[in-house]
Amino acid sequence: MESILVLTHADETGAALTKASLEAVSAGIELAGRIGASVSIGIVAVDAQAAGAAVASSGARLLGVFGEPFGQARYSTDAAACEALCRAAQATIVLAPGSSRFTRVAAGVSHRLGGFIDTHITALGGTANIEASRWFYRQRIEAVLSRDARPWFLLLDSGTHAAFAGEATPAQVEQVAVQLPLIRTTVSGLRAPTQGAQTIRPDAKLLFVAGAGWTKKQPDGQTHVPEAADLILGFLRGAGASLGSSKSLVDQGSEGQSVLPFLTHLNQIGQTGATPRHPKGLATCCHGEEPHVVGWRFIGERRAVSLDANCGWTRGKADVVYVADAFQVMAKLNALIGSVGA
Ligand SMILES: Cc1cc2nc3c(=O)[nH]c(=O)nc-3n(C[C@H](O)[C@H](O)[C@H](O)COP(=O)(O)OP(=O)(O)OC[C@H]3O[C@@H](n4cnc5c(N)ncnc54)[C@H](O)[C@@H]3O)c2cc1C
Repeated sequence: MESILVLTHADETGAALTKASLEAVSAGIELAGRIGASVSIGIVAVDAQAAGAAVASSGARLLGVFGEPFGQARYSTDAAACEALCRAAQATIVLAPGSSRFTRVAAGVSHRLGGFIDTHITALGGTANIEASRWFYRQRIEAVLSRDARPWFLLLDSGTHAAFAGEATPAQVEQVAVQLPLIRTTVSGLRAPTQGAQTIRPDAKLLFVAGAGWTKKQPDGQTHVPEAADLILGFLRGAGASLGSSKSLVDQGSEGQSVLPFLTHLNQIGQTGATPRHPKGLATCCHGEEPHVVGWRFIGERRAVSLDANCGWTRGKADVVYVADAFQVMAKLNALIGSVGA
């Protein structure tokens, strides 16, 4: 019988599991129920009893590695914690959120245990044989993988499973002892991104895409870049949206044209950019060309605001297209949601 371990970690408070961790818990419980396997949840946190409360109602065995050294993401302590949890659970299948924290250590832990790892898993299927799905070639080809090798580590992409939402109850977490490695890395503080605003928010309900139109000459013959920046940042703040961009807009910086200072290539959506997973998307001042729209593959409801009634969005790529001036639409929208400019 398979023994499934779901590795989870706390957020910056040290005492609450991250949303991506709770998604992995749902995936583990669902898989265990389907294949008839045992399931444990391994918790890496400062306070694993507090963090475990959110998953105590799952019925899974709870194992924890606690203490201050596990409050910060750090290769040596995180790898030691995950290795100890895998050994304690005698796991044959290890599921973990594809967070930056676990993505950094999972391959090393798998190697220490003589296992195999696959990353960017989006779905788990199969009964007799576990089948893990992932996309290749910029989300064009979906592969279904199965392996005989154990332990098999599977890093799950966030947004592919519902977060576990059981009632919080006091948790009985078994403490797993860890031989602390030599700690050479200490965290002396946090530095915010240079632009002062974190615009990429994978957990946001809405993806807001800014296209090159925001920096182009408008009907009055002038560009209005500072106003565009105010409207976009005001909306992001008010709606808690994540900011995406077209390639044309982010490329402008390197081409010496007017540019929105908070955008980088990390914001780019599309064939040569990111393929995020948000339930909703709103494109503004963007033409909706195919290389851009392929990055919207996993966006549920799609809306666009464009001056061009013949843009790509109107050709079946958006559910609703508002043929309108995005400067006016976004000013009105910001007023409605009570947001002010930057
Ligand atoms: C190999 C390759 C890979 C590529 N990869 C990517 C990729 O990963 N991502 C990507 O985005 N692109 C990619 N591209 C580029 C892509 O083909 C388009 O050139 C790009 O997406 C266009 O960006 P845009 O729509 O913002 O700009 P534009 O085409 O300039 O469109 C601007 C739009 O804004 C509208 N507009 C202007 N003012 C307003 C206003 N006030 N209100 C409302 N609308 C307004 C205009 O009508 C126009 O439709 C790739 C291209 C190639 C060849």
